[in-house]
Amino acid sequence: MDNVERKWKCAKCGAELVPTRIVFQYMGRSFGYEVPACPNCGDAFISEDLAKGKMAEVESLMEDK
Ligand SMILES: [Zn+2]
Repeated sequence: MDNVERKWKCAKCGAELVPTRIVFQYMGRSFGYEVPACPNCGDAFISEDLAKGKMAEVESLMEDK
Protein backbone atom coordinates (compact mmCIF):
# COMPACT_ATOMS: atom_id res chain seq x y z
CA MET A 1 0.00 0.00 0.00
CA ASP A 2 2.99 2.20 0.40
CA ASN A 3 4.15 1.25 -3.07
CA VAL A 4 1.77 3.61 -4.77
CA GLU A 5 3.46 6.27 -6.74
CA ARG A 6 3.86 9.30 -4.57
CA LYS A 7 1.49 12.06 -5.57
CA TRP A 8 1.87 15.60 -4.43
CA LYS A 9 -1.21 17.53 -3.56
CA CYS A 10 -1.68 21.24 -3.44
CA ALA A 11 -1.74 22.52 0.13
CA LYS A 12 -4.26 25.20 -0.82
CA CYS A 13 -6.88 23.46 -2.93
CA GLY A 14 -5.94 19.77 -2.73
CA ALA A 15 -5.58 19.30 -6.48
CA GLU A 16 -3.01 16.79 -7.70
CA LEU A 17 0.18 18.50 -8.77
CA VAL A 18 1.34 18.05 -12.34
CA PRO A 19 4.87 18.48 -13.70
CA THR A 20 5.17 22.04 -14.92
CA ARG A 21 8.06 23.89 -16.38
CA ILE A 22 8.96 26.92 -14.33
CA VAL A 23 11.78 29.40 -14.61
CA PHE A 24 14.22 30.02 -11.82
CA GLN A 25 15.77 33.43 -11.54
CA TYR A 26 19.07 33.36 -9.76
CA MET A 27 22.12 35.57 -9.88
CA GLY A 28 20.87 37.37 -12.93
CA ARG A 29 20.24 34.19 -14.91
CA SER A 30 17.14 32.21 -15.58
CA PHE A 31 16.87 28.45 -15.77
CA GLY A 32 13.93 26.36 -16.85
CA TYR A 33 13.11 23.44 -14.62
CA GLU A 34 10.25 21.00 -14.28
CA VAL A 35 8.60 20.89 -10.87
CA PRO A 36 5.25 19.65 -9.55
CA ALA A 37 2.78 22.52 -9.72
CA CYS A 38 -0.92 22.91 -9.04
CA PRO A 39 -3.03 23.14 -12.21
CA ASN A 40 -5.68 25.09 -10.27
CA CYS A 41 -3.88 27.88 -8.48
CA GLY A 42 -0.43 27.57 -10.06
CA ASP A 43 1.38 26.94 -6.81
CA ALA A 44 4.66 25.20 -7.57
CA PHE A 45 6.20 22.79 -5.15
CA ILE A 46 9.92 23.45 -4.92
CA SER A 47 11.67 21.50 -2.23
CA GLU A 48 14.47 23.10 -0.31
CA ASP A 49 16.84 20.44 -1.60
CA LEU A 50 15.91 21.21 -5.18
CA ALA A 51 16.36 24.93 -4.68
CA LYS A 52 19.72 24.44 -3.01
CA GLY A 53 20.86 21.96 -5.64
CA LYS A 54 19.84 24.34 -8.39
CA MET A 55 21.65 27.26 -6.83
CA ALA A 56 24.80 25.19 -6.33
CA GLU A 57 24.58 24.20 -9.98
CA VAL A 58 24.27 27.80 -11.07
CA GLU A 59 27.15 28.84 -8.88
CA SER A 60 29.40 26.13 -10.32
CA LEU A 61 28.42 27.20 -13.83
CA MET A 62 29.42 30.76 -13.05
CA GLU A 63 32.74 29.63 -11.60
CA ASP A 64 33.58 27.74 -14.75
CA LYS A 65 33.83 30.96 -16.69
ZN1 LIG B 1 -3.85 24.63 -5.76
